[in-house]
Amino acid sequence: MTTLEVRTRQRIETIDITGLVQEAVEPDTDGICVVYTPHTTTAIAINEGADPDVAHDIERNLAALFPKKGDYRHVEGNSDAHLKSILIGPSETIPVEGGKLLLGQWQSIYFCEFDGPRRRRVFVRTQAET
Ligand code: ZN
Repeated sequence: MTTLEVRTRQRIETIDITGLVQEAVEPDTDGICVVYTPHTTTAIAINEGADPDVAHDIERNLAALFPKKGDYRHVEGNSDAHLKSILIGPSETIPVEGGKLLLGQWQSIYFCEFDGPRRRRVFVRTQAET
């Protein structure tokens, strides 16, 4: 397993980690790759990477759906980040063939920060077919 260190610089940030994940995939492997973030205010997503406006639109509209201040009880003051995290989810699973991630032409893997800036981790594990 590979642990990626991701340093985020803003409270809400979408970072393309496709290249880092591909580097972490076991070469010449057929199977699956699991990308997982072990934090409660981050997420992993797959979506369009070609146009950076897509990530912008996702960030803006998640912020509209779960505003910073709302009807929240959690005393830490970051309930919006927890809700965004649970909606997007902590992991993605990607098929791997010959050591290559089988992503679509327009797909990228995103690390989603919802309560930065912080130092974060992403676990990448390749599971070979038996
Ligand atoms: Zn919290």
